[in-house]
Amino acid sequence: MEKASALYEATVAQFHEMAEEMELDAGVVARLGAPQRSLIVTFPVRMGDDGSVRTFYGYRVQHTLTMGPTKGGIRYHPEVTLGEVSALAMMMTWKCGLLGLPYGGAKGGVRCDPRSMDRAELQALTRRYTNEILHMISPERDIPAPDMGTDPQVMAWMMDTYSMQKGFAVPGVVTGKPRIVGGTEGRFEATGRGVVFVLEEAVAREGLTLPASTVAIQGFGNVGSIAGVELAHRGARVVAVSDSSGAVYKRDGLPISELINHRASGRRLAEYSEADHLTNEELLALEVDILIPAALQHQITEDNVHNLRCRVLAEGANAPCTSAAADILEGESDILILPDVLANGGGVTVSYFEWVQDLQSYFWTEEEVNRRLKEILTSAFRRVRETASRRKIPNRRAALMLGIERVAQAKLARGLFP
Ligand code: NAD
Repeated sequence: MEKASALYEATVAQFHEMAEEMELDAGVVARLGAPQRSLIVTFPVRMGDDGSVRTFYGYRVQHTLTMGPTKGGIRYHPEVTLGEVSALAMMMTWKCGLLGLPYGGAKGGVRCDPRSMDRAELQALTRRYTNEILHMISPERDIPAPDMGTDPQVMAWMMDTYSMQKGFAVPGVVTGKPRIVGGTEGRFEATGRGVVFVLEEAVAREGLTLPASTVAIQGFGNVGSIAGVELAHRGARVVAVSDSSGAVYKRDGLPISELINHRASGRRLAEYSEADHLTNEELLALEVDILIPAALQHQITEDNVHNLRCRVLAEGANAPCTSAAADILEGESDILILPDVLANGGGVTVSYFEWVQDLQSYFWTEEEVNRRLKEILTSAFRRVRETASRRKIPNRRAALMLGIERVAQAKLARGLFP
């Protein structure tokens, strides 16, 4: 019942479809078709405004432990459920498989509205949640990272809570931390920057160039704003960006740094007065070269997919298209799709770099991080394109196939215990 979720059903159905196409071993399919470990916790937090105590629901799901420790973000959002977290954990497994990282997928979250909570409440919630999932996480077992609604500060509180229980600092228990407590150069930027590294490879094959491209970005948080900065830096014209309050639009290109400062001052994009305003639906329908959904899942559906007028769709968010919308796009349109499992893989890749650096207590320069990130994403992009054209299948299926194949092979190699 807790697991009932459209995203979970769609993610499992997608896996079964791929498994059939790949003629995977039935035992492996059954094993990978459900998460290995799922934890639901409820815990109290004293709220600052009136001293009342509120009970929150939290989750941590580890999809498969075959490849090494599990890895995946922590989401704070009012609609987090076990089903959503389980789906995202499964997607993380395929993503790590495709990128060749030594991890299985995991995900966690707390059903809460972080925007309505003050810093003390967020800290109390984070510390108590971390304590509740403490026995599931460790640098060898499962390593959380930021996702929607969480940031480097939340990761620092998680790291501190875990370290207090151990009696010594354990930076490798989470990634996406501030640099001062063992974070890496380039992690905050990694996902948005990675989207742009993949785009650079992709648009060249389409006869486009980034400086000549127009861009619309749905979601102006970590992923969307950094993708905007990186694209503007390369000369692209970012004409529209949005948050949950709506979109801002400027035909000649938006001042991305100014908009980041506007958001950082606690104001929403609807309150920005130096541009035209659109709804999120109107943003998705803009005639642009590149559209980057970088907010929530299932924003592009059967109902609005026919409105899309972009040439390239780079999925910064996880599962921004429903399966029905993805089928329509892949079957009926000429839009080049860069699927989530590939396009937003920069985050987990640099999280991997952070973990490696923490384990070795030896830190790299930002140039080194970016060079290695580009190498991994470019190689994944080329393998996806090669598989897609050899098998005459869409990029999404090719990417999933490569990810699933690696995990399935590892499962068969390890065999059964006992
Ligand atoms: P974030 O919380 O930093 O930003 C989310 C943004 O989306 C905010 O601007 C918010 O206002 C906006 N938003 C929320 N609901 C919206 C709606 N209905 N319409 C338009 N905008 C809306 O989150 P993030 O870390 O940038 O994550 C965004 C997406 O990218 C998520 O799907 C996440 O799973 C995925 N992702 C994030 C990372 C990462 O490293 N942060 C890595 C891989 C994938």
